[in-house]
Amino acid sequence: TKETRALFIIFGGTGDLAQRKLYPSLFRLFRKKEINQHFAVIGTARREWSDTFFRDVVAKSIASLSPTPDELAEFTSHFYYQSHNVNNTAEYVVLEKLASKLDNDYELDGNRLFYLAMAPQFFGVISHHIKSEKIMTDHGFSRLVIEKPFGTDYQTAEKLNNEISAVFDENQIYRIDHYLGKEMIQNISAIRFSNTIFESLWNHKYIDNVQITLAESIGVEERGGYYDQSGALKDMVQNHILQVVALLAMEPPTIFTDEAIRKEKISALKAVRVYKPNEVKDAFVRGQYGAGEISQHQFVGYREEPGVDEKSETETFVAGKFLIDNFRWTGVPFYVRTGKRMTEKGTRINIVFKESPINIFRDPHTPIQEAQKIPENILTIFIQPTEGFSLTLNGKEIGQGFNIDPLRLDYRHSAEASENSPEAYEKLILDALKGDATNFTHWDEVASSWKIVDVIRNAWDQETPDFPNYEAGTMGPKCAFDLLEKDGKNWIWQP
Ligand code: NAD
Repeated sequence: TKETRALFIIFGGTGDLAQRKLYPSLFRLFRKKEINQHFAVIGTARREWSDTFFRDVVAKSIASLSPTPDELAEFTSHFYYQSHNVNNTAEYVVLEKLASKLDNDYELDGNRLFYLAMAPQFFGVISHHIKSEKIMTDHGFSRLVIEKPFGTDYQTAEKLNNEISAVFDENQIYRIDHYLGKEMIQNISAIRFSNTIFESLWNHKYIDNVQITLAESIGVEERGGYYDQSGALKDMVQNHILQVVALLAMEPPTIFTDEAIRKEKISALKAVRVYKPNEVKDAFVRGQYGAGEISQHQFVGYREEPGVDEKSETETFVAGKFLIDNFRWTGVPFYVRTGKRMTEKGTRINIVFKESPINIFRDPHTPIQEAQKIPENILTIFIQPTEGFSLTLNGKEIGQGFNIDPLRLDYRHSAEASENSPEAYEKLILDALKGDATNFTHWDEVASSWKIVDVIRNAWDQETPDFPNYEAGTMGPKCAFDLLEKDGKNWIWQP
């Protein structure tokens, strides 16, 4: 059978991530028989729960997937709970015993996946004990899956990495960036490397600029306390946005394997210009939302949100320009923006091609300086909420004369196809199970990203921002529009 045998040890098994994402994903994999008879899950956390209680929680977490009574009974019977304070060595001994027993009972071949669904401050102590109490096996695989945030700057990330690398080799570490599990993010490579018409134009000769927008209409919800310590730059740009930049900018890998792709992504990130402190202001701007209205709902400003400091200087919006110093991309700005409480939710990439060199269709009697420009071709990749892509082309307007009329080829996955597409976490867990690290971030990528972002953060920290500077329900502060305007460009945002 196709089933991969493994024991999942989930640290933080009572938490939000585990219940909202991990258990439902495991259930979907169970339904598809990617895991079937030979798997077991140990949930650990501080609370004193029984196996029965834990199984009830797991059952509730998958209720929306409507399991049959048989499926439910069979699936949850593989779940075991152990209360465990991660700082207590003795409890790892108990954990090891349970792990060995389940390995034996379910014939798991010594395969183990350690999933740390806990705050990163615990990663070091958990890794240390996994080794000292011999919870890693010497047969089968032992893999570590961890969540963002990976550090809060380069230094803390490096410290964290040293702690886990003392136990796990880089090829055993799976750093989740759930964006990389999204269907259309994975599609970037398909569009680039299976279409001659794009890859041959994919460089500074034909591309004018690239735009990446990750807009959210939600605010900070109940995560205000966490978000206020982080802000949009660290929460979105350091990880998701720079990963998308890397996928768009990288050279074609020789073959589509994790090793080959990561090598190219790392080179691309290393070519992203690290700004000098005095260059930051020209290239990056920030914002924080004030009160405003979205589809007739009134929203409070960020500083009024629960858990947020009433004088908070945390940015809820970032816009900026990355430059990539290599042969392919020199001179092509990669504009990025992301924020909360924007007009609508939407993640999109726009590849804006260069204008035609000259408009030969202009009226021969008007001076060329006044001739109308021909609209640029734009390739848009829609990541969410709709998935698909569109391409604007120019044709002739029907009728007398010769007017250029832009038209748009637009393809969106059907709602049904999107519904059936596996959820990001489901794909990523299966990848980790199969040992495919393509859609996880390598330490070198994390390191480069922090170096790029740290300079921006440090420059910002020298000045007090004038917040709030955009209203909830808008596409961000004026400075974000000025940023492109001074380069003679505009944000593209077509439906
Ligand atoms: P949570 O607070 O809901 O869960 C934390 C878990 O850790 C709980 O099970 C708790 O019992 C356990 N825990 C805490 N201290 C412990 C200790 N000393 N010993 C043993 N167990 C202990 O948090 P969460 O939202 O599930 O997030 C977990 C991690 O994943 C965090 O690092 C978070 O940043 C990251 N993350 C979460 C999400 C999400 O959607 N929730 C998304 C991305 C990243």
